[in-house]
Amino acid sequence: VNSIKNVVIVGGGSAGWMAAAMLARVVGRSINICLIESDDIPTIGVGEATIPPIQIFNQALGIRESDFLKATQGTFKLGIQFENWGQEGQHYMHAFGDIGKDLGLTPFHHYVVRATRNSPDIDYWDFSLNYQAALKHRFSPLTNIPDSPLCGIRHAYHFDAGLYAQLLRKISVQSGVERKEGKVVDVALDSRSGHITSVRLADGQVVEGDLFIDCSGFRGRLIEQALQTGYEDWSHWLPCDRAVAVQSESESVLRPYTRSIAHAEGWQWQIPLQHRIGNGFVYAGRYLDEASAVEKLCNNIDGRLLNEPRTIKFVTGRRKKQWNRNCIALGLASGFLEPLESTSLHLVQSAITRLLKLFPRADIEPSVVDEYNRQSLIEFEGLRDFIILHYHLNSRKEGVLWSHCRTMDVPDRITQKIDLFRRTGRIHCASDELFSNIAWQQVLIGQGGMPNDYDPMADHISDTQLSDYLNSMRTIVAVATKDLSAHRDYIKRFCGAA
Ligand SMILES: Cc1cc2nc3c(=O)[nH]c(=O)nc-3n(C[C@H](O)[C@H](O)[C@H](O)COP(=O)(O)OP(=O)(O)OC[C@H]3O[C@@H](n4cnc5c(N)ncnc54)[C@H](O)[C@@H]3O)c2cc1C
Repeated sequence: VNSIKNVVIVGGGSAGWMAAAMLARVVGRSINICLIESDDIPTIGVGEATIPPIQIFNQALGIRESDFLKATQGTFKLGIQFENWGQEGQHYMHAFGDIGKDLGLTPFHHYVVRATRNSPDIDYWDFSLNYQAALKHRFSPLTNIPDSPLCGIRHAYHFDAGLYAQLLRKISVQSGVERKEGKVVDVALDSRSGHITSVRLADGQVVEGDLFIDCSGFRGRLIEQALQTGYEDWSHWLPCDRAVAVQSESESVLRPYTRSIAHAEGWQWQIPLQHRIGNGFVYAGRYLDEASAVEKLCNNIDGRLLNEPRTIKFVTGRRKKQWNRNCIALGLASGFLEPLESTSLHLVQSAITRLLKLFPRADIEPSVVDEYNRQSLIEFEGLRDFIILHYHLNSRKEGVLWSHCRTMDVPDRITQKIDLFRRTGRIHCASDELFSNIAWQQVLIGQGGMPNDYDPMADHISDTQLSDYLNSMRTIVAVATKDLSAHRDYIKRFCGAA
């Protein structure tokens, strides 16, 4: 049979080593995997916050959670706190996990909306265990709240992505991945099919392959420089095009959540690791120069700075085809969405899964490529829309960026979701969208307020039943929160790094 025999991965950042480790695990017995990375071209060196599915990726690689967190100075993440996004002075959290408990077919939040008619102070997040735990800087694993119908804690991680790549590199090499150091300086294409046949390194070595995975970062050494795939630019919807990043000393509390703080020209992230905090400021170059951005970030950090601030430029968008001929782009080579919802490493993970599900024969059946690209497009656009929502749904007074985003035309799907929610409290996310109804609801309520109406099905219980129901949920969540450990104590016991 005409099977793939040699896979060549170009790039040894998080994307390259994630791909190498997983391919080695799944197909490494029958396929040779070679990863090329260049000591002359540094990795991006940021990317520290994730979303819950990364647990599945690590489990599939057989990495124990405590080993992983120890090796990467990792901490637990329960959500992202958005500060000043809807309006200056306001905050809310996109907390992972469920909120409350649906009754029959009627989603829980409709009952909260109904209850706020008589008691406007009821807070939707009282019913989120993740949020209540985050607020008190607590974390311990909890699958379900005992003797209740409620789910427990749902977590992701903050970690040092450079250390993660090192861990994966060790695992990959142990599983038989061949690592070559060298810079790809030339790419040979087959004159008939246009497929990549080999890459040449600066020292003259030629590495041949049947399937090439481009993990070379923004430059897209194979997918763009060799195959000229083209790039779809989304910066008219997402005008931020730069970031400055710097590390600072830890705070006395160890927050189990990412902070995302809106400023006039962009937003600041704060990601607590065990040994330091990762900080950054994502901003629009058209509204702020680099020196002012650096100054702004440094002025908004409490702890001592640990390194020199570094600026990174990017263009938000995606490669027109994630898979072109016999080359698949992963990570920054495949496109970029700002780290507002911590999705880049997830996109790498899900692209690897997609590739494994659609793994080709050596002749590369075009319908497989089309299907892969179709699924990637849906995923990228879904995430893009969720990120646009954060910018679009604002009533901020300060900053031209925000008035621009509030009044700009956005993709119809976003307008439809906002309208449906505002008028009826209903929300519908397709089953293949990464962020579900609960994620969208939190941003819609957190930045736009409670909807004007709720599902009439939520009227089938009496006022007393409604208030008993909500009170009991609130109490269950509050009691469960009390039993959790302080995040720092749990980290020390479970996975304290050197
Ligand atoms: C400001 C910012 C913040 C981010 N925050 C997050 C976050 O919180 N969460 C998250 O999930 N993601 C985040 N990301 C994204 C995340 O950093 C990347 O998706 C992830 O690190 C993968 O990067 P990469 O491996 O694709 O590229 P890189 O890290 O750039 O690695 C590229 C690799 O390719 C090699 N290479 C390049 N050219 C050649 C060549 N010619 N020959 C040989 N080798 C070559 C380099 O040596 C390097 O090893 C962020 C990104 C940015 C820009």
